[in-house]
Amino acid sequence: MSFKSAISRLEKLPLIQKQYNAFTHLNPNCKELLIKDVSSSPKKSLTNLLYGIKDNIATSDMPTSCGSKVLHNYQSPFDATIVELLESAGAISVGKTNLDEFGMGSGGLFSHFGPTKNPLFPFQDTVVGGSSSGSAAAVAADAVDFSIGTDTGGSVRLPAAYTSLFGFKPSYGRISRFGVIAYAQSMDTVGIFSKNVSIIKSVFDVLDKHDKKDPTSLSENLRGKLRQLSSPQSSYKIGIPQELLQDNMPLELQDGFLLALEKLEANGHEIYGVSIPQMVNSLPIYYTLAPAEAASNLARFDGLRYGYRDDVADSRDDTLFAPTRSAFGDEVKSRIVLGNYNLCSESFNNHYIKAQRLRVDLINEFDNTFTHPNILTGFPGNQNGVDFLISFSSINLPPAMSDYDSDCTSNPTNSYVNDVFTTPMSLAGLPAINVPVMASNPIGIQLVGQYGDDSRLLDLAAELL
Ligand code: GLN
Repeated sequence: MSFKSAISRLEKLPLIQKQYNAFTHLNPNCKELLIKDVSSSPKKSLTNLLYGIKDNIATSDMPTSCGSKVLHNYQSPFDATIVELLESAGAISVGKTNLDEFGMGSGGLFSHFGPTKNPLFPFQDTVVGGSSSGSAAAVAADAVDFSIGTDTGGSVRLPAAYTSLFGFKPSYGRISRFGVIAYAQSMDTVGIFSKNVSIIKSVFDVLDKHDKKDPTSLSENLRGKLRQLSSPQSSYKIGIPQELLQDNMPLELQDGFLLALEKLEANGHEIYGVSIPQMVNSLPIYYTLAPAEAASNLARFDGLRYGYRDDVADSRDDTLFAPTRSAFGDEVKSRIVLGNYNLCSESFNNHYIKAQRLRVDLINEFDNTFTHPNILTGFPGNQNGVDFLISFSSINLPPAMSDYDSDCTSNPTNSYVNDVFTTPMSLAGLPAINVPVMASNPIGIQLVGQYGDDSRLLDLAAELL
């Protein structure tokens, strides 16, 4: 990307923001930073690249709101590790991107800053997908070269599918989460959006580092093991999990899926059917565990340690914190209630523990499906297995906002179905990417690799556009 094109894109930012509401805050200093960086030498790997960063990631130069009234004026005293890494590689942040509050949602409609709109449909208010809605919209509208999102159960892959982008969720633990505000920490993963897979590779190269400040960051030792394992092949075995083949998929998505299979076969790869039975339980497992983790993580937003303080007293009618906690949006409130319910003594064994057991079964079934070893579980790999998996990324094309809204109002759990194809990989910490199979059409397919097989997955994704 040239310096000149970066400058001209900065000039269009206010208009793009007005049209799509992709940002919660724009960076007033980005032009100066760009000018300063271009004159620095030697050239850095991300020089002249503009990016947006999801507003649940701590930045010391802009507020970090999580799309919530609770944090609407919160200013972090430090930068997330990934912000430091991107800055030292020469990338320029143009702003914080809009999101479903605390990352909870699939549409990009549940933000204190208002909904994000899909730039592929400038004349009809259309869902962009969530929760990393602004990160997807910023790239789709060409405001930035890449953007950073977080994916706990699909929040990078789904909006990427709805906006015709590559949306990459790496293996859990490869990118530091230090400074990423936790939603469900056993699944939260930083992800990358771009129209160009080679930009995703360069950004991943910068971010794929051990961070001693993040206890879940993959150790140097295991990173070394991964490097020894990763040998690219010209032909792979690719499996279609039968559990993810749904009836009544829209015809356009079926066509896109077939097109991807044809391309892969034409490139010399072989397609097989596989079965991963626990996948059918992924949604209930996810919606049991994620709210439980969220209930615990969000306890710190009590108006004392962090968060919002109302003008009235915290303690009223024997209820401590009621006025402060009421500033959460409805979706967040219902997740906190659901999470606490799953953790309470009557339901703990029957819900939370059962979901954890099923999660382990799912991970074992994934292990049995792949030829590649799993360095975390110690599984040596199944020589009769496949190298990668392929599935749909979304159950539908991006809906009109009004339809999505009435669907969620009639039953708040309707929107949870949107995550059916993406949550299995989140529960197992696997690398997965949405690939846009028809340029400028919101038709995406998902490719998935064994834990740690990120580089080969990105190479395979590059073959598809
Ligand atoms: N839609 C899912 C949820 O609301 C996934 C969100 C995410 O990945 N952050 O939990």
